[in-house]
Amino acid sequence: MEHSNLWAPWRLGYIQGLGNSPDCFICHNLNHPQLDQENLVLWRTGASIVVLNRFPYNNGHLLIAPARHIPDLTQASDQELLELIKLVRESQKALSLIIKPHGFNVGMNFGRCGGAGLPGHLHIHVVPRWQGDTNFMSVCSDTKVISQSLAELLQMLKQVSKEHNLPSLTIDDRTGTTKNER
Ligand SMILES: [Zn+2]
Repeated sequence: MEHSNLWAPWRLGYIQGLGNSPDCFICHNLNHPQLDQENLVLWRTGASIVVLNRFPYNNGHLLIAPARHIPDLTQASDQELLELIKLVRESQKALSLIIKPHGFNVGMNFGRCGGAGLPGHLHIHVVPRWQGDTNFMSVCSDTKVISQSLAELLQMLKQVSKEHNLPSLTIDDRTGTTKNER
């Protein structure tokens, strides 16, 4: 698969600090809006991006990341943190409308030893869960099958977003304007 090498930790270990990184797939996605379909980008908002994970732990696995290439929460602004957690909420809404999970795992991994596949760029995992789903990856190990279902799922999520006006980020506390640039 073309993007597989982006997840290789030995290529990403050197990525640190601020600024866009050409070898970061999140920055790559941010900088190439014309490839949003191919890159499985669901939403772009004021300071964040939401994408379907190309290598999902489960069906509907979303990644929510700030637009800035920062490694962890210590370098995120309050406004960025607020938007990220609101996007967790909106992601749960959208996924619940489409694939009706029984529960969710929401989490972050910091640093390589913390299990981060992309240690340079903060991202929140939103993983839908169903009762008895633990064998998903061994069942769906054919990446071609996964890619096809990812494209279909992306279309469904975009459609439901349009119908339900998601993501709804309400009012920006500082400017009083809505930030919703889908
Ligand atoms: Zn990045």
